[in-house]
Formats: sequence, structure tokens, C-alpha cells
Amino acid sequence: MMNAKIKTKFKFQKKDRVTVLTGAGISAESGLKTFRDNGGLWETHQVEEVATPEAFEKDAALVWRFYRQRYLQLADVKPNPAHFALVDLEKFLGDNFTLITQNVDGLHSKAGNKNLIEMHGSLQKCFCLSCQQKFLMSEINLMKKVPSCPVCKGDLRPDIVWFGEIPHHMDEITLRLRHTNYFLMIGTSGYVYPAAQFVQIARLNAAKTIGINLEKPLNSSLIDEFHQGKAGLFLPKLIDCWLNKN
Ligand code: NAD
Ligand code: ZN
Repeated sequence: MMNAKIKTKFKFQKKDRVTVLTGAGISAESGLKTFRDNGGLWETHQVEEVATPEAFEKDAALVWRFYRQRYLQLADVKPNPAHFALVDLEKFLGDNFTLITQNVDGLHSKAGNKNLIEMHGSLQKCFCLSCQQKFLMSEINLMKKVPSCPVCKGDLRPDIVWFGEIPHHMDEITLRLRHTNYFLMIGTSGYVYPAAQFVQIARLNAAKTIGINLEKPLNSSLIDEFHQGKAGLFLPKLIDCWLNKN
């Protein structure tokens, strides 16, 4: 295959604050399916069937079956070069680096990123609808159709932010976006709000905005420098350029 030619007008310095937003596309090369590339399906399910509070109310066992499979699947999934490139970026920038992910697959922490905000929750966790306590999936009995709380026996639900729910850590995210010098969005279609509007918040606060995606995202008019292609191929090279390594 031809080696993609990468050009960028930006260079990062240690004092630059860089905020990164990732979506399902960054995990595609690890073998996890995205929504949009799949006609709005997550694996073989319509999102309304498995990723809304209404779906859980209607058929908690079906929703649990879906997330149990997603969780168990993670054992075989590894971070790809795009995830590892973001670890290099964090090593260079230290506390000036923030990674916000819409993904629930845990691959950013598996790769080694520390300053990480999982705004849509995590497949590794669940919480009790009665006493609100959080548990790791590894701590509960997953064999039950609808797993129950080890403390109060209430119903547990996956710690995933479903459509129609408010994402986690929005105050912290807004603060980071207001003070960032660069905003990068990687592997995200720009359809899912509020994440789709982060680029606008960053831009209104004078950040430079950069996008990497297989297709043009919906909000591409707000991106100063757009790289169309696979994150696993482009991001490591771009980060080398931004860090002056070539
Ligand atoms: P999305 O599915 O709407 O969009 C993914 C985007 O990634 C698409 O625009 C596509 O062109 C692009 N893409 C595909 N392969 C790519 C690659 N190799 N490199 C770069 N870009 C690539 O995803 P979204 O915007 O994150 O929104 C979907 C929602 O679904 C999120 O809330 C997320 O929580 C959830 N979700 C998560 C996972 C996961 O955790 N891995 C998987 C599917 C869906
Ligand atoms: Zn409980």
C-alpha cells in the first residue's frame, strides 16, 4: 500500500493545552464496530433496542444480554496504534493533555492514558438502581438474566450513558474545552450530542481545531485542519509531526 503523505501546519509545545475527543472510529481498527458505518446498528441491534432507558424498562434481560456480550468481547480486544499514539501525546504534554472519549470499550486506559474522561460510561462497570452503588462487572454475578446488587439485591444496570441521558463529567469537560489551545476530534461522526458540539465550544474560545476521520463528520465546517483517513494510520504520524519528531 502507498504510504499516506501527511501534512500539518501545527506544532505543539509542552505549554500547549490539548483536548482530544474520540469516538467509535478510533476503535474500529481494533475490530470493534462503529454505529454509523453499520447503518445505525450497534452489532446487529437498532440502538433504540439496547441503548435507551426505555429499552431497559421494556426488556432489561435483552439489554443485559447485549452489554454482557460487549463486556465479554473486550477480553479479546487490543488497543491499536491510534490509541498508543495518544499515550505518547500525553507523555509529552503531561497535565496539559485531556482525553475525552465517547467510547465505552476501555481501550484508552488499556493503552495507558491517564488523564481520561469516559463521558458515556464504561462497559466494565454497572450500578444499582436502588442504592446507586457502582460495581465492576468482574465483582458481580453476570450469569443472572438481570444481575442484582451484592449489597441490597436491587436491579443493576450497565454504567452506560444511554440516548436521552446526560453524559458524565460535563462540568469538567466544559472547563477543559474553555481553556484548551487545540481541540482534536478523532473517529467521531458528529451526530451524537452533546459531544458533537464540543468543537464549537473550543473554537469559540479560540482553540485551533483538528479532525481525523474516515469520512467527513457532520460538523466538519468547524474544523481548521481535517485529515481524512484511518486513525491508526494517520494519528501516529501526525503526532510525530506535532511533537517535532520528524
Ligand atoms: P459513530 O459510529 O457515529 O461514528 C464513527 C465515525 O468513525 C464515522 O464517522 C466513521 O467514518 C469513522 N471511522 C470509522 N473507522 C475509522 C477509522 N479507522 N479511523 C478514523 N475514523 C473512522 O461513532 P460516535 O461518533 O462515537 O458515536 C456513536 C456512539 O456510540 C458513541 O456515543 C459511543 O459511545 C457509542 N459506541 C461506542 C463504541 C465503542 O466503545 N467502541 C462502539 C460503537 C458505538
Ligand atoms: Zn444496591
